[in-house]
Amino acid sequence: MSKDYYKILGVLKNASQEEIKRAFRRLAHQYHPDKAGGDEQKFKEINEAYQVLGNEEKRQRYNQFGADFAQQGGFGGGTNWEDFMRAARGSDGFNFNFGDLDLGDIFGDIFGGRRGRTAGTRKGNDISVDIEISLEEVFSGISRNVEINKNNLCSICRGDGAEPSLGTKVCDKCKGSGKIREHRRILFGTFIQESVCDKCGGAGKIPEKNCLHCKGTGIIKSRDSIALNIPAGIEDGGALQFSGEGEAIKNGVAGDLYVVVHIKPHKIFQRKNADLYCDLTLKFTQLALGCGVEIPAIDGNLKLNMSAGTEAGEMIQLKGKGLPNFQRYGRGDMYVKIKVKMPKKLSKNAKKLLEELDKEI
Ligand SMILES: [Zn+2]
Ligand SMILES: [Zn+2]
Repeated sequence: MSKDYYKILGVLKNASQEEIKRAFRRLAHQYHPDKAGGDEQKFKEINEAYQVLGNEEKRQRYNQFGADFAQQGGFGGGTNWEDFMRAARGSDGFNFNFGDLDLGDIFGDIFGGRRGRTAGTRKGNDISVDIEISLEEVFSGISRNVEINKNNLCSICRGDGAEPSLGTKVCDKCKGSGKIREHRRILFGTFIQESVCDKCGGAGKIPEKNCLHCKGTGIIKSRDSIALNIPAGIEDGGALQFSGEGEAIKNGVAGDLYVVVHIKPHKIFQRKNADLYCDLTLKFTQLALGCGVEIPAIDGNLKLNMSAGTEAGEMIQLKGKGLPNFQRYGRGDMYVKIKVKMPKKLSKNAKKLLEELDKEI
């Protein structure tokens, strides 16, 4: 037996189907190549093992003849990886039937909502826009309107392309189902390719008469003002997704809007994650004697008490005076680097005083 499928799934030889399925689910989650820390090779192996052990009939043949039998086509051909991954990724238009394996069930929660859309639902194009905000706006978070020229649903027919007074009728091509089905036999069973009806675009109905406003397309290109809420603490180059704010499509769901946020350089602060860095230049006498100074912070001025003998180059940490953490509680810190300014020209008196000081210390 060249490959021990039981070992690959980490189950006993007498494991129940439920145990095998559980083991597969756990490992598939762990090694799925689309996830961080995934491992495609390992995932393929797990998949191969489950294709056999997850099916009682194949499992019996495997127990009898071993994995070589499976690989030489004894189970109906080698693994068609592309088809499998397409199913695993929940591509539109594909429904898989792997005997008693339900891939939707297995992969549904790996990809969250991605399989939630029914197969064949069309989606409008995504749009990406760039916006620039100030560091102060990063601190507070902002709401901003952006104007975007995009495809919107026709306001007269509400997107179905039919003249409202006459309505729609059942599509004669798909008989109202909106889908055209084709059966194909592949690897582990039947592969049903389901495509959207090209006549009705999946709606199952067609206009009695086209809407005059949009000429039946259901779509009007127009300028839209969209209110964007940019949360506090966002990173430079961070992208926010606004679901359904992309381009509309007839008989489908609107695409998404991606907003890429750029942050303007700040005249005082450098940013590193939620921390802010700035310089503070003082006279050497202020450092030697100690002093109280008012310095700018991101949310207003604050008072800093410098103890006598502070060194130039020292970094003062002000806890919780940085930016808010992005989508977490708390704030970063502010770091103030102390610089010293030496006088370039000394008055006679100043020179005399410094010379006296020099002797004193
Ligand atoms: Zn219309
Ligand atoms: Zn149709």
